[in-house]
Amino acid sequence: MRREADSFEFIIVGAGSAGCVLAHRLTASGRHRVLLIEAGGADHNIWIHIPLGYGKLFANAKVNWLYSSEPEPELNNRRIIQPRGKVLGGSSSINGLLYIRGQAEDFDHWRQLGNAGWSFEDVLPYFRRAEDQQRGADAFHGVGGPLAVSDVSEPHPLCEAFLAAVEEAGLPRNDDFNGPAQEGAGYFQLTARRGRRWSTAVGYLRPARRRANLAVVSNALATRILFEGRRAVGVEYRQGREARIARAEGEVILAGGAFNSPQLLQLSGIGPADLLQSCGIEVISDMPGVGADLQDHLQVRMQYRCTHPITMNDVMNSRRQQLAAGLRYLLRRKGLLTIGAGYAGGFFRTDPAAASPDVQVHLIIYSADTVGAALHPFSGFIASVCLLRPESRGRVRIRSGDPHEPPAIQPRYLSAPSDRNGIVRGMKLLRRIMSQQAIRRYVLAEHAPGAQCTRDEDLLAFARETGTTVFHPTSTCRMGSDATAVVDERLRVRGIDRLRVVDGSIMPTVVSGNTNAAVVMIAEKGADMILSDAKAAGSAARVA
Ligand SMILES: Cc1cc2nc3c(=O)[nH]c(=O)nc-3n(C[C@H](O)[C@H](O)[C@H](O)COP(=O)(O)OP(=O)(O)OC[C@H]3O[C@@H](n4cnc5c(N)ncnc54)[C@H](O)[C@@H]3O)c2cc1C
Repeated sequence: MRREADSFEFIIVGAGSAGCVLAHRLTASGRHRVLLIEAGGADHNIWIHIPLGYGKLFANAKVNWLYSSEPEPELNNRRIIQPRGKVLGGSSSINGLLYIRGQAEDFDHWRQLGNAGWSFEDVLPYFRRAEDQQRGADAFHGVGGPLAVSDVSEPHPLCEAFLAAVEEAGLPRNDDFNGPAQEGAGYFQLTARRGRRWSTAVGYLRPARRRANLAVVSNALATRILFEGRRAVGVEYRQGREARIARAEGEVILAGGAFNSPQLLQLSGIGPADLLQSCGIEVISDMPGVGADLQDHLQVRMQYRCTHPITMNDVMNSRRQQLAAGLRYLLRRKGLLTIGAGYAGGFFRTDPAAASPDVQVHLIIYSADTVGAALHPFSGFIASVCLLRPESRGRVRIRSGDPHEPPAIQPRYLSAPSDRNGIVRGMKLLRRIMSQQAIRRYVLAEHAPGAQCTRDEDLLAFARETGTTVFHPTSTCRMGSDATAVVDERLRVRGIDRLRVVDGSIMPTVVSGNTNAAVVMIAEKGADMILSDAKAAGSAARVA
């Protein structure tokens, strides 16, 4: 059954990190009617809101698309999990909460690639506008914005030892990774307030939902963008058994994220012509770049047995300690339940010739064989390393014209030789830090890869056997002005009218850090562009 739905000025597909920001900003004036379509449901699950609950959402199909990659040739043909939020707030509702913007050099590089308006100087005001920084405002930080950013609730002895070891190794300390320089080690800040997750659904969408000019449809899968010629005029979506249509008088804005935005474009006839034809889809625009250039951060986790029972493994393996941690959280909003995907960490240069850090290190105060697996029965922790600017490029492609079928995701991790060298250098740097006296007293043994693994080939073999994503896929609808770029610097799909992509998929290159903050910035800036273009179009119409 198919029903005609209302008409809106803007239709946003996806209520994730970017979509919630857009919904808030585009409805703020009250002048525009906006429809927000989200495939997932409400963010009621309690584990969404307790930072540590992050670990409980990896396998929950109610809030997670639970994608996984095709067999990865350079990772021993393993399929790598690719979780993505399918819930209000999207991946900002299930992510590890670390607040890292990337390096000023990342955005200056975007600008050098020809994207006017995207240098660090240009984007800093949007980072600041978004932010409600617990430490207060300064040249780099804002207060009063919708995205709460806070410090960890308390220091931890393992992190203190790690930070001392970094300094002992001759590397710098850094108390603000989002300040004047990223290099060095310190505690991470989190998108949280008083021990609660601050997703974009909480910070942006919640206040916007009180506005009469915002309609939110959840549990609704957008299946196709509707066109008249080369102009986007609406969206077809399915809610339960019903197929519906919503018309856009202004624009259709895709915010489905790095896997689903290219998928929806391809399903709608915008993508590589040969692929679309093989799936029986009418080609509206042959754009080989749609779904190409997938980039992600590959992470290798080195595991340690700890000499002291101070790790999360110890807490999770004891009913009494679990209860104490729960009470501490309830009464004081402190302790283990407030921590995100990493506690402390750092950004370092493994290549002295590099102008800025090329790896990120996470200190994680628990250990497990794989992401989302049960914690080890012994005291243990992880120090991981990920490559910040990979040269490997992958792709996302539909398998058929069925919008319910997950796309084929092929990140092609380590396909570039420079990435293989980089990850080995990163593991060696980690070992250098972990061999310092300050942390050695906590290390009983390197559990994995283990002392027998000494040669570069062995380290690379470990990376191939255990390396995994740190969940930062980007660039599948890349912004640029070259032949395969998908959107221009105002995030408009090239050659198509009234269609934009505003999410992590537009990053020309993945930022050197965690990606949520940059996606929020992109949406803040994208909203300004959409509103100013709408205003200009309105004035032009009045003059005519
Ligand atoms: C497990 C995990 C841990 C992470 N940890 C961190 C971290 O610690 N720090 C950090 O900065 N970043 C982290 N990230 C990455 C970060 O969260 C993402 O880069 C960011 O949220 C992406 O935002 P987005 O708007 O591009 O996509 P998303 O937030 O994924 O939003 C896309 C939304 O669109 C919806 N959607 C998709 N297709 C359709 C459709 N056809 N119809 C309707 N709705 C649709 C989805 O359900 C989803 O809600 C993590 C990500 C994950 C998954």
